[in-house]
Amino acid sequence: MPVIGVLEPIADSAFAHLRRHAAVLPPPAAGWQEQADAIIVRAAPVDGDAIRTAKRLKVIGKHGVGTDTIDLAAAAERGIRVLNTPAANADAVAELTIGLALSVLRSIAWHDRGVRTGLESPAPRVGRELKGARLGLIGLGTIGQRVAHLACHGFGAVIRAYDPFVTSPPPSLPIAMAGDLAALCREADILSVHVPLTSATRGLVDAELLSTLPEGAVVINTGRGGVVDEAALLAALRKGRIAGAGLDVFEDEPPAPGLALLEHPNVVATPHIGASTAEALERMGHSVAEQVLDALGIPQR
Ligand code: NAD
Repeated sequence: MPVIGVLEPIADSAFAHLRRHAAVLPPPAAGWQEQADAIIVRAAPVDGDAIRTAKRLKVIGKHGVGTDTIDLAAAAERGIRVLNTPAANADAVAELTIGLALSVLRSIAWHDRGVRTGLESPAPRVGRELKGARLGLIGLGTIGQRVAHLACHGFGAVIRAYDPFVTSPPPSLPIAMAGDLAALCREADILSVHVPLTSATRGLVDAELLSTLPEGAVVINTGRGGVVDEAALLAALRKGRIAGAGLDVFEDEPPAPGLALLEHPNVVATPHIGASTAEALERMGHSVAEQVLDALGIPQR
């Protein structure tokens, strides 16, 4: 019977489904490198050394979208299939993106701190609306499109996007495609990042790009930490060029306590919880479990 190592917890019902069809090493799946024909991972990195020593390994199932945590070259070298769960978490990440944008635009976290500590001063801040705001999306894949849908149809934001691999947006979405990143940024009141972390996107949102945003723009990143240069973002926040930022992802995770960016009063931060809703966890768990069983050739009833 094939052995599947589940390195991190997945939804109970998805775990039970796996157990009905295969031998399963429960989290943290100690010894998976000797025994496992397949593994299921969430955030845990799977490096080249681990892949090369796991002689039985045929399939890596990523519970989530971003496979930047897996050494894809080492997997390809050994003919190991890498699967992920595209779309299963798109609603969850898109909703968090809107939540962070609203939180920054209305200073929700800032006001929350003030109310709790009984502060009368400084006076409450005047916020800005998502309605009519120009939202610039970097990346118009599954999540970018979902954010566009919510922001446009739900709130009346005006959407533009830059994605070199998408020439025309879906007809249901009135999105103007920008020819390049600087053109996108020049007309973005809110810049939101939805690209994977690759060698081409690392540091994509740097000091130069941030300087092309209109004064007082807002940056939201629920994509990947390394895509936004944190030092450049902090400098732009300190100068007041960027009014605020909503960040779910960081260059190093978890971010170090006392990270200067987190000390900035106009930064709203969440600990990479974009996909963490009960609904998305259920969908991702079942999607990855079923795909891994399929890839191992195990019939499922
Ligand atoms: P996707 O593959 O559907 O979309 C990614 C899009 O980025 C594609 O359309 C692609 O063409 C585009 N892209 C690639 N390189 C680009 C570049 N240089 N400039 C502009 N666009 C570029 O993936 P998705 O499901 O939409 O997810 C997007 C990213 O969100 C994932 O790669 C992952 O890093 C991140 N994510 C974060 C969380 C979270 O918990 N915060 C959860 C899921 C996904």
